[in-house]
Amino acid sequence: MEYKKNDIVTVTIEDIGNDGEGIGKSDGYTLFVKDAVIGDVVEARITKCKKNYGYARVEKVVTPSSFRVEPKCSFHRQCGGCQIQAMSYARQLVYKQDKIRNNLLRIGGFTAEKIDEVMEPIVGMEEPWHYRNKAQFPVGYDREGNLITGFYAGRTHDIIANTDCALGAPENKQILETVLSYMRENHVTAYRENTGEGLVRHILIRSGFWSGEIMVCLVVNGTKLPASEKLIESLLAIAFADKGESGQEKRITSISLNVNTENTNVIMGQDIRLLWGKGYIQDTLCGLTFSISPLSFYQVNPKQTEKLYGLALEYADLNGKEIVWDLYCGIGTISLCMAKKARQVYGVEVVTQAIEDARENARVNQIENVEFYEGNAEEVLPAFYEKAGQGELAEEGLALGKQTEGRSRDKLHPDVIVVDPPRKGCDEKCLETMLKMRPERIVYVSCDSATLARDLKVLCEGGYELRKVRGVDQFGGTVHVEVIIMMQYCGKEKN
Ligand code: SAH
Repeated sequence: MEYKKNDIVTVTIEDIGNDGEGIGKSDGYTLFVKDAVIGDVVEARITKCKKNYGYARVEKVVTPSSFRVEPKCSFHRQCGGCQIQAMSYARQLVYKQDKIRNNLLRIGGFTAEKIDEVMEPIVGMEEPWHYRNKAQFPVGYDREGNLITGFYAGRTHDIIANTDCALGAPENKQILETVLSYMRENHVTAYRENTGEGLVRHILIRSGFWSGEIMVCLVVNGTKLPASEKLIESLLAIAFADKGESGQEKRITSISLNVNTENTNVIMGQDIRLLWGKGYIQDTLCGLTFSISPLSFYQVNPKQTEKLYGLALEYADLNGKEIVWDLYCGIGTISLCMAKKARQVYGVEVVTQAIEDARENARVNQIENVEFYEGNAEEVLPAFYEKAGQGELAEEGLALGKQTEGRSRDKLHPDVIVVDPPRKGCDEKCLETMLKMRPERIVYVSCDSATLARDLKVLCEGGYELRKVRGVDQFGGTVHVEVIIMMQYCGKEKN
């Protein structure tokens, strides 16, 4: 049968796609159905037809799946944030476990037996709501010209007005509404992407879940904010109902502007202007204190991050004697956790502010056996390796030539390399250098199991064997999942 756009078809949903959509067949024709849950029978409207498959969206759920739950947020279908909020959390975890497994099979080339042998059950959240400590809310206008803030609708830049996201910190609502009132009262405009006019682009809010410290940063298309003292006054007047986990009151401790005058999709510019308080917030993770500035990366789900770092430590298997590299180290969270159990840790990170935070964090926590390098991992590491190869670091005892069995470990031939790259994974040059440095163990933390699987294949070909794999869900309600793996050097090509 020939289908066309806008046809209504009945589909039984049998699988889940990469973006969380339901997959089912109608007369042998495969349809990817947005917002359908595996196990549903739905009436769907076709939105796009290709030769062998098509896309559709749910018009009506005819028989709901046993995995279907009442979504918490009424905007979940329009919003681009939560793709699988209508699926029970237990089923979300099964989906994520399968996603990791399938990528290791299909992209990584590992056998099913191997994966079953090394893969541990995914670590889920106790409470999959209000877990995010950071959000960036776009500011704009609705059709009637009212000032609004909220989230982008899926795959567009239309803003859905919603100050009460079910994943975000509960205090965001009060803060956002305060900023909107200040803007209305003081005739402060929102940025319009199509014309490049208007001032306020985004509101960044970051909360220290432990400390109770809150940062508010307005991203502006300009360098100044009119009547900024009014904004400061009204933000500081907010009384927050709950406390941080330390028992301290929640309170705003940093108010700043971020200058972004470019016509770009990139949210933040490079220039931060402090309006009030400190330029960063502090929070506690794994018993260590961290300073976090607006431009630095900090894991968004602190509870699950503690579990993730616990696994990173377990997989690194440190006993106080090891040399460790932590690539893509951010503000040094993993580096500092490891430093307590290793001889020496070297961190590499490309964002200047993050490296500054990392150094400050080492100082505040009185950790001395860690050193941070600013730059791209794929440049810093090879440059360092080549320089040492030419004997320039020989006096530090770092020269090459000790690549034999039982060699003593040093900066160039560390015991462990940890990597935690962004979604695109590790650069080839970085992987190549890691293979040359040949650590005993590689711990790879990844937020995209597809690029992880691709990189693991390269490391396997270079003599590493996959020993452990575990998912840690940091992103309930969404299709994203964090994965941590450990590989051991075994000197032979093997999957
Ligand atoms: N390990 C840290 C940060 C992980 S996020 C933590 O757990 O908090 C990934 C980090 O890699 C970000 O801080 C990002 O700025 C950094 N980054 C991105 N590309 C990079 C590159 N090519 N080289 C080094 N760091 C990079």
